[in-house]
Amino acid sequence: MTAVLILGLVINAIALPIAGKRALFLYRLIASGQPAPDRIAGVTRRLGAAAKRQVVEVFGQRKMLKWTVPGTAHFFVMWAFLILATVYLEAYAALISRDPQWNWFVFNNWGVLGFLQDFIAVMCTLGLVVFWAIRLRNQPKQMGRKSRFFGSHLGPAYFTLFMIFNVVWTMFLFRGAVAARDIAEAEATGVEHGYGKAAFVSYLLGKVFPDSTALIGVGLLLHIGVMLVFLIFVLNSKHLHIFMAPLNILFGREPVALGAAKPLVSAGKPVTLDDIDDLDEDAKLGVGAIEDFTWKGLLDMATCTECGRCQSQCPAWNTEKPLSPKLLIMGLRDAAFAKAPYLLADEGKREALLEGNDTLTKEVERPLVGETGDEWFYMPEDGSGVIDPDVLWSCVTCGACVNQCPVDIEHVDHIIDMRRYQVLVESNFPSELNQLFRGLENNGNPWNMSPNARMDWAKGLDFEVKVVGETIESLDEVDWLFWVGCAGAYEDRAKKTTRAVAELLHIADVSFGVLGNGETCTGDSARRAGNEFVFQGLAQQNVETFKEYKVKKVVSTCAHCFNTLKNEYKEFGIELEVVHHTQLLNRLVREGKLTPVRDGAGAHKRTITYHDPCYIGRHNGVYTPPRELLQVLPGAQVVEMERNSERSFCCGAGGARMWMEENIGERINVNRTVEAVATGADQIAVGCPFCRVMLSDGLTAQQDKGEARAEVEVLDVAQMLLASVKGEPATTSPS
Ligand code: SF4
Ligand code: SF4
Repeated sequence: MTAVLILGLVINAIALPIAGKRALFLYRLIASGQPAPDRIAGVTRRLGAAAKRQVVEVFGQRKMLKWTVPGTAHFFVMWAFLILATVYLEAYAALISRDPQWNWFVFNNWGVLGFLQDFIAVMCTLGLVVFWAIRLRNQPKQMGRKSRFFGSHLGPAYFTLFMIFNVVWTMFLFRGAVAARDIAEAEATGVEHGYGKAAFVSYLLGKVFPDSTALIGVGLLLHIGVMLVFLIFVLNSKHLHIFMAPLNILFGREPVALGAAKPLVSAGKPVTLDDIDDLDEDAKLGVGAIEDFTWKGLLDMATCTECGRCQSQCPAWNTEKPLSPKLLIMGLRDAAFAKAPYLLADEGKREALLEGNDTLTKEVERPLVGETGDEWFYMPEDGSGVIDPDVLWSCVTCGACVNQCPVDIEHVDHIIDMRRYQVLVESNFPSELNQLFRGLENNGNPWNMSPNARMDWAKGLDFEVKVVGETIESLDEVDWLFWVGCAGAYEDRAKKTTRAVAELLHIADVSFGVLGNGETCTGDSARRAGNEFVFQGLAQQNVETFKEYKVKKVVSTCAHCFNTLKNEYKEFGIELEVVHHTQLLNRLVREGKLTPVRDGAGAHKRTITYHDPCYIGRHNGVYTPPRELLQVLPGAQVVEMERNSERSFCCGAGGARMWMEENIGERINVNRTVEAVATGADQIAVGCPFCRVMLSDGLTAQQDKGEARAEVEVLDVAQMLLASVKGEPATTSPS
């Protein structure tokens, strides 16, 4: 065993410094990012929540298990890494002590551990077979963009599976050889060593293997050697997530990077509208270069496993746009690694480093956002940008990527930060957004319509709508502020929803008031288009109004307003209780204050399919109330689209895409409408004015082509409920 010890020490002496050097490089690269003190504070402030996240997401593999087959396979492989680490401790103890029968408890080992080690190794092998089969069934060569592995590094993925397999079989070679010695000694002396039959595979192998010191030595060296090669490979590959994922999850936004957009931050401090005149020249307004990302952003990039779950759900990718959240993160990661020698060099030595190094010079000069001029947009050519503008501006901020990512990568935050730089610093954005920004700045609404027209929706109602500052002095006099929103005030189809909700609240005897002309856009589109200062201006104005009129409880019919008021206005010093209208209406139905007319008394037989708005569903977890409301409608049968709830498909309007042309690939709203129509539903129910516009347009296009029945229509859940409460057929808009 002395020769084994020497060889073992030699291979460790070669491999560990290589691994250590790479680990140090990775640490330095990630640490070179901008500060993110909130992420550290988030962990220390909420240790319990952070620990729970580790347990649920890392050890419990919650997100992984959303996809049952690959999730279960990954569960076993992940646990194999943890449990088989104990076999490596045994192997190193055997190596250093030169005692191949080294035991934790001097003589005999704990059978439960031996069983677990063998069991998990077997399950891990089965997991590898499943992974291999999944990869064979989803080959990009055959499936093209439909494969979630399209664009992922395939060779290294197969090599990873191969190396894990090597870990398993060398473990059994080593342990089987040791078991053979244990069995031989037990037969000779009657004294049992080791795990015995508890380590069932090793024991069976021990029955077959000869009692041979050479075999033990070979098994031991191979087992340790494989691990060392794998370690170096992992540190240089996408399999880095083994080490990075727990950290990335630990420092992730609590509870998830959805809902509120990440605030604009420079050097770890928020940048507000009030700071504009005093900004120093180093201030970062968004992300304009790879080094502008925070260390958490760089950690995200290093953590991506290239699994493609995000890509498979992305509405942009699924409609032939160039944006894939996976490829976006991979592109940023590649750029960070390519630029690393420059970023990690002392400032005084950087120029010298570039001399004669064309590759590095090109990397340093490459703009973060710039045309790639190559259909392989995520593998930029010389002189092109890292991220194509078409990639950046295709995002609808639907959050499907963040929701699906098993290692909690925060794609939407990065996209918004890159948009911020393009808008605030470069003034380089799709020209259609000029109209949006102008409307918001001039008249406080994207349509650029007169604020005086904000109450037009209420004309003709047979009851008075209380307007704060006109018919009531403050919101103290009523239960709710009914936040109408720009679409609800100006867009004809959305106005019907506004009227329906007002009527329902009136019928239920729920007191409410509106801000009338005092309302201005929440700023959702401006923020997600990167125009943070327009957003902040609008938010400040609204918050002042809220404070003046003592607003505490808000109901909104717009998914975007709901999200912004609920999650983003806290930054401006106000805490509001905000509900979506489907939540409030559902509550009123449950309390018996609204009663849909029973079947046989005006019930209208029809099937309904519900489209989840991203900013109600994925961003805020509201899936049930709208469905419950539809289920109580007499005569209604609810059918689900294949992509529903968490896996719903965006209508195409989020992320300010509502205000941009959609010239690449299939229109997202058409893709979604085709799915809705395919359910055979008579009505498509929505809970957001943006969705309503997009799906109505999609439906009209389908109907014009004769691919959807003329009777199919898009209605808000509130309209359907109102019709039912009034005992009217819901096919005719009641308002
Ligand atoms: S937010 Fe939606 S559109 Fe944007 S990258 Fe993620 S999945 Fe794609
Ligand atoms: S970003 Fe997340 S979901 Fe997407 S490929 Fe990477 S690890 Fe998978």
